[in-house]
Amino acid sequence: MEPRLYGCFHCRNIVSCHEDIMAKNFVGVGGRAFLFSHAMNVLVGTKREANLITGPHVVADISCSDCKKVLGWKYELAVPESEKYKEGKFVFVNKNIVKANW
Ligand SMILES: [Zn+2]
Repeated sequence: MEPRLYGCFHCRNIVSCHEDIMAKNFVGVGGRAFLFSHAMNVLVGTKREANLITGPHVVADISCSDCKKVLGWKYELAVPESEKYKEGKFVFVNKNIVKANW
């Protein structure tokens, strides 16, 4: 079976695999989002502190390595114990990625 992939909405650069989806019920700035355990072909931006509903975190924007558009963010650090599983994981906002079937 072919791996199902997700590409950048803007330029179709492959950025993640369907098998790496950890959660589909994320809501971020920009709308519904998916949490992925891995990402590829993305650039990680400057780390910044963010006070989220779930507590204090350190996040960094992730952008497409090809067209440089911001697609989501990476959790660099999660302070609350219950949120630690997100550390090092990637969130892509749904509207910024498309399912690639090639
Ligand atoms: Zn792109």
